[in-house]
Amino acid sequence: MFEYAPAPESRDVVDIKPSYDLFINGEWVESLGYERIKTVDPASEEILSEVAHATEADVDRAVQAARKAYDEVWGVLPGRERAKYLFRIARIIQERARELAVLETLDNGKPIRESRDVDIPLVAAHFFYYAGWADKLKYAGFGERPRPLGVAAQVIPWNFPLLMLAWKIAPALACGNTVVLKPAETTPLTALAFAEICRQADLPPGVVNIVTGAGDTGSALVRHPDVDKVAFTGSTEVGRLIARQVAGTGKRLTLELGGKAANIVFDDAAVDQAVEGIVNGIFFNQGHVCCAGSRLLVQESAATAVLDALKRRMATLRLGDPLDKNTDIGAINSAAQLAKIRELSDAGEAEGAERWAPACPLPERGYWFPPTVFTGVAQSHRIAREEIFGPVLSVLTFRTPAEAVEKANNTPYGLSAGIWTEKGSRILWMADRLRAGVVWANTFNRFDPASPFGGYKESGYGREGGVHGLEAYLDV
Ligand code: NAD
Repeated sequence: MFEYAPAPESRDVVDIKPSYDLFINGEWVESLGYERIKTVDPASEEILSEVAHATEADVDRAVQAARKAYDEVWGVLPGRERAKYLFRIARIIQERARELAVLETLDNGKPIRESRDVDIPLVAAHFFYYAGWADKLKYAGFGERPRPLGVAAQVIPWNFPLLMLAWKIAPALACGNTVVLKPAETTPLTALAFAEICRQADLPPGVVNIVTGAGDTGSALVRHPDVDKVAFTGSTEVGRLIARQVAGTGKRLTLELGGKAANIVFDDAAVDQAVEGIVNGIFFNQGHVCCAGSRLLVQESAATAVLDALKRRMATLRLGDPLDKNTDIGAINSAAQLAKIRELSDAGEAEGAERWAPACPLPERGYWFPPTVFTGVAQSHRIAREEIFGPVLSVLTFRTPAEAVEKANNTPYGLSAGIWTEKGSRILWMADRLRAGVVWANTFNRFDPASPFGGYKESGYGREGGVHGLEAYLDV
């Protein structure tokens, strides 16, 4: 670990209430149930606040509000008017960026550098991008008179809480749908701040409704008969369940699920650049990234050089207080996720892979896991097959491009992949053969609201982002 001077961001820019109600029809309303969910700062285990655990009856109220707003206001509002609201929301997000970044970091555990420089700017960018589409839908390529679907039920995970909300809400609203969104139980706070932003933007009541709760709340929402569209991001396991529940109902469905991406490094790649890409690919957001480059496939002839450089670079990563602007690796989001990462890492060792982590003192309180790399990994090992969703990299080697393709595709997932080589022709050859929704070349984990994102195989179906992201919320 480096010695460095701490540069903490101020907690005082956020005003967290001790308790939050549900946001239904533009108002804060008490839940009809009595259960509450505590949300904690994973870096200190301090309780930040408690939120309502919405019941089936609460979900019904939210869906009814969304239906009324769709029928009477939003579904018939001209696109140019919808655009104004989306632009207004985008600008308020920019104005409140610092506060939102701190709130996200406290609730999620991610480094402030990431929430400040990546998450929140991308959230604003998504609203700006889809504001631009709202009055141009007939040029999107889905017919002359594309129509919204109606009420969208949206369920999101905890790894990019506000960004996942933006991916869901911005295109839905741009197309004229109204929404009921359920944030993850461990990270509800920025979604609740977003509810305030909707009020600040004078968004008509009922267009956006936020119901906090756990899996049962999400389940009630996706099963509600008056929902027209279900959009889910989360685990493949829950995605499968939802697909079965939605089957035969006429609801439209998009699923963004897990991944086990290969980051493929050829021996002609610039080693230092590739190492930065490997580090960003697996340690960004503590590896809580569905498209994380969690399998490093390195060409045998370059393996020693790449692994030596990687370990040197890992030894410089700073783990600790997520609010410190120097921090590279923050806290694991929850005790349950930490247990899952530990279990899979222990399985890696038990199955014979070699584990390495830099000397890295972990804070006493909170949920922490050091950046870790496993070498000598076989394709049959659990750490090569299962999504760890943590800062743990599994290294495999290959000799030929064909072998790299075969190993990269040897997974039930297909969300993303990375290729590192100086040869342009090889990038194209590989990209044509990799079964992944996103293929990055000489970079990794780069996002833009204009480019579509989504998976092959068990990583889900449908695309979010870009013009393709509109299709999920339109009927022709
Ligand atoms: P999860 O599936 O447990 O939870 C996701 C959301 O679904 C939460 O809001 C949860 O409350 C809700 N939920 C749980 N059970 C439900 C049910 N039966 N019906 C309806 N909703 C239900 O996943 P998680 O642990 O929160 O997130 C981690 C997973 O999400 C990882 O597997 C990751 O790969 C995936 N993920 C995918 C993407 C993507 O874009 N493909 C993005 C982020 C995360």
